[in-house]
Amino acid sequence: MYDLRTREHALTLVAQGRSLNSVSKQTGISRSAIREWQIRIEPTPRMLGQAAPCPRCLPVPGLPTDSAAYAYLLGLYLGDGCISPHRHGGYYLRIACADAWPRLIDLCRTAISSVRPEDSVHVLQRQGCVAVTSYSRHWPCLFPQHGPGKKHERTISLRSWQQAIVDAHPWDFIRGLIHSDGCRITNWTTRLVGGERKRYEYPRYFFTNTSVDILRLFTDTLDAVGVEWKPSRQSRAAQSVSVAKRASVALMDAHVGPKH
Ligand SMILES: [Zn+2]
Repeated sequence: MYDLRTREHALTLVAQGRSLNSVSKQTGISRSAIREWQIRIEPTPRMLGQAAPCPRCLPVPGLPTDSAAYAYLLGLYLGDGCISPHRHGGYYLRIACADAWPRLIDLCRTAISSVRPEDSVHVLQRQGCVAVTSYSRHWPCLFPQHGPGKKHERTISLRSWQQAIVDAHPWDFIRGLIHSDGCRITNWTTRLVGGERKRYEYPRYFFTNTSVDILRLFTDTLDAVGVEWKPSRQSRAAQSVSVAKRASVALMDAHVGPKH
């Protein structure tokens, strides 16, 4: 019915914040069709045929050219991402981003575009969050941690080329992990100082994940950049790491900062 370019154009308008009504009026496409595309985009033969060259496949396996963007996207993928095969071949990468942080959605889109410049990126609306989605044959080449089942039920370890990228861009990797499964919160308390009640704030960073392997990748990278951390709030389902020391929080603020 509609070609890919038309579908992408309509979805781009919606992603820019336009209402379904106004996009429907402008494009002449029914709202229900647009809503359907938001849930599922079918790759067309054109998309399948025009796969961009993959830095991991051909002709000689190499590194992604924008390695800082890759380190950030690796953090996002390990935190809130998944790769799923499409029935027509190829794979979808999906990164879940909360609605509450629009800038993070932009950062995620930009990172995917930098890692796979020739593949399109879509933002699909979900309940309370969006899924930033990109279709490519090569996501498993770029994220060999892909596998059946949940991430915390299988071993997650980086390939040597991935570790080399993380070593070169540790803060991008940390930022990706915090942007997906982490947060910066401020606790506060008051104290009497010279008869006057003063408010003291204690900013902290938390990272929570159900995979002990991913937690270790996070803490190993914190060690590498000199950020002190400690385990906190362990539950059966997930484990957390907190960064609370003043100098370490300052380092995190300089390189990561709060989500927005
Ligand atoms: Zn590939």
